[in-house]
Amino acid sequence: MITNQVDQTFVRETNLSTVLRLIHSESPISRAQLAVITGLNKSTVSSLVDELLEQNLIHETGSNSGMAGRPATWLEINPQAGMIVGVELGVDFVSVAVTDFLGTILWRHKEEADPTEGQEKMLDQTLRIVKEAMSANKKRSSRFFGLGLATPGTVDLNEGVLIFAPNLHWRDVPFRKIFSEQTKLKIFVENDANAAAIAEHLFGIARQCQDFIFVFAGVGIGGGLFLNGNLYRGKNGYAGEIGHSPILAGQSQTICHCGNRGCWETYANQYSIIQRVQARLEVKRSSVIPKLMAEQNGQLSISLIKQAADLGDNEAIDSFIEAGRAMGQGFAGLINIFNPEKIILGGPLSIAGDFLLPSIKEAAKQHSLPEIDRQVEVLLSSFGTDASLIGAIAIVANDVLSKPVNLERR
Ligand SMILES: [Zn+2]
Repeated sequence: MITNQVDQTFVRETNLSTVLRLIHSESPISRAQLAVITGLNKSTVSSLVDELLEQNLIHETGSNSGMAGRPATWLEINPQAGMIVGVELGVDFVSVAVTDFLGTILWRHKEEADPTEGQEKMLDQTLRIVKEAMSANKKRSSRFFGLGLATPGTVDLNEGVLIFAPNLHWRDVPFRKIFSEQTKLKIFVENDANAAAIAEHLFGIARQCQDFIFVFAGVGIGGGLFLNGNLYRGKNGYAGEIGHSPILAGQSQTICHCGNRGCWETYANQYSIIQRVQARLEVKRSSVIPKLMAEQNGQLSISLIKQAADLGDNEAIDSFIEAGRAMGQGFAGLINIFNPEKIILGGPLSIAGDFLLPSIKEAAKQHSLPEIDRQVEVLLSSFGTDASLIGAIAIVANDVLSKPVNLERR
C-alpha cells in the first residue's frame, strides 16, 4: 500500500480500488478483515467503504452474530451497481450480451455474420444488436458502466482502434469512435484472447492464478498471456499472436490468412478440422456426416462434426484427435517458453473440447520438457464458446474496479 505520497488524491483512488477489488474477490468480507489485509487503519477503511456504499458499488449484508465482540457487517459487491454491454466480434458471428456488475447475463443475442459481405455491413449488424440490447435493458433501474468489444487481431488500446485482423482482412478500424458515437457509452476495445484471459482471472477458473495462458481457438488461434499476475502485452500491445508461430514453415502448402505459410493455426483452427473431415469423406469412408448434412440442409460445420462425434462417428472423432495433436504441439511450445500454471482452451472450438483435450494433452506432454510439463494443467474455459464475450464484459468491470471514482452517480 502506498503511504506518504504527495498526491493524496492518487493514494485515495488507489486505496479505493484495492478495497473494492478485495470485496470483489473475497466477498463477503468485513471492514475489520479489510483493515488487516490492506494494512490500512480502521477509520481509513471505514471512510473508503462509505464512499463505495455511496457510489452504490457495494452493499452491506447480514452480520456474523455468532462471534465474540461487536458483530461485523459483511460487505459484498452490489450486482445491480451497473450494467455492462459486451460485444464479441467473431469472424463469422456477432454476439452481444448485457450483464450485471458480477457478469451475470441479463440479455443475450448471437447472429451469424458473413465477413465477405464487407466491414460496413458487419458493423451495421453489430450496432443494430447493441441498440436492441440497450433498449431492451433500459427499463432496469441501473446505469450502464460501458461497452466492451472483443475482436480478433491486434488492438491499439489507448485509441480503441483495431490495427489489423488477418482473418477479417480489416485494418485500422476506429471501433471506439464508431461505437461511442452510436451508443454514447464509454467504450473499451480488446483483443479476443486477451479479453478472455481477463475474464478467467476476474470471474473464471484462473482467479488466484498468476501465470496462465488463454488459448482462443476458432477461425484463428490467439493467446492471452497472463504472466506475473498481469496481462503481458509486449512493446506495442500486440503480444499473444500465437497462431502465427511458424511451426512448420518451409514444408507447408497452406497459406495462412496473414499471408505466410506454416502458421500453427492453419493446422489446428476450425477450417483445418473441416478440411480433415472433407478429405476423409472423399475417400468414401462410412460416416454419418453426409446424412447429417442432408438432414440439416447445411454445410459442414464444427457443430455438425461435433454432433457426428457424439454419435460415435469415427471420421469426426479422428479428425478432432488429429487437430488436437496439432494444437498440442503449439501448447508444448507455450509450455516450454512460459512455464505456465494453466493453459485454458476456449472460443468456438471448445464445443468439441472433450474430443480435443485428450490428444492436446498427449501431444503437449510429448513435445514439452518433462519437468515443465508436470507443472502445467491444461483445461477447458469456464465460459466455453462465450469466453471472449464474457471477456468483453470483464474489461469494463475491470475498469470500474481499477477506477471506482468519477462514475456517473445514480
Ligand atoms: Zn499466419
